[in-house]
Amino acid sequence: MKVNEIFYSLQGEGYYTGHPAVFLRLSGCNLSCPFCDTKHQTYTEMTDDQIVKHISQYPARHIVITGGEPGLQLTSAFIHLLHAHNWYVQVETNGITPIPDNADWITCSPKTPLTHLIQDTRLTHTDHHGQKPIDSNDSNPSDRSILCAPSATSDMTDAFRHSGHTRIDELKLLFLNDGSDHQRATRYSHIPARRYSLQPLDTGNLTHNQTILTACISYIQSHPHWTLSLQTHKLLNIP
Ligand code: SF4
Repeated sequence: MKVNEIFYSLQGEGYYTGHPAVFLRLSGCNLSCPFCDTKHQTYTEMTDDQIVKHISQYPARHIVITGGEPGLQLTSAFIHLLHAHNWYVQVETNGITPIPDNADWITCSPKTPLTHLIQDTRLTHTDHHGQKPIDSNDSNPSDRSILCAPSATSDMTDAFRHSGHTRIDELKLLFLNDGSDHQRATRYSHIPARRYSLQPLDTGNLTHNQTILTACISYIQSHPHWTLSLQTHKLLNIP
């Protein structure tokens, strides 16, 4: 597999927030989100056995396979191998490629075109794991933003429906506070999952972030099948 990085930290977001976990970030993605923090061209080719040997140095047995898009490389045989070594396997996906059914927990963070929001050049990546500010030297970020979805006008729920996914455990959606949240949350609520999480968008501006957080909390209180997901690794300043 093409491995971008392996590191040990705490799961910062979603249902398993606070759990110590080894992160296996794979290179390569089927989308090109303008806010992406993964250097997809940078990777080390590793065999399944080499990965298992490498991660065994850590005491935890929770692995988070993230990306890039793990569905492009992840096999059921590799998950079987991890299970044989007592790993609990969580996979984070953008939802457009199927994930092997033997994963223990599948977190789907569907991507949303953010054209109007990336005009703020301090918008930061808020899905998958790890963030960094968007390149403020990007001369025309809005042109690239349409690459975030399979097409500029496509509905990501349609892409999801045709992806071949048979199961999602957690649906984690960005809360943008741009007037579209209720419409998007309602649309994604039709995708079966065990947990529905809303994660306030990080704009890089504390005042703006507080406004989004307050609106997100208010929305969840009014729509209690959603739960709040915070990027605690950012608050704690850990990887
Ligand atoms: S789906 Fe995730 S990994 Fe892929 S380009 Fe978008 S942010 Fe990057």
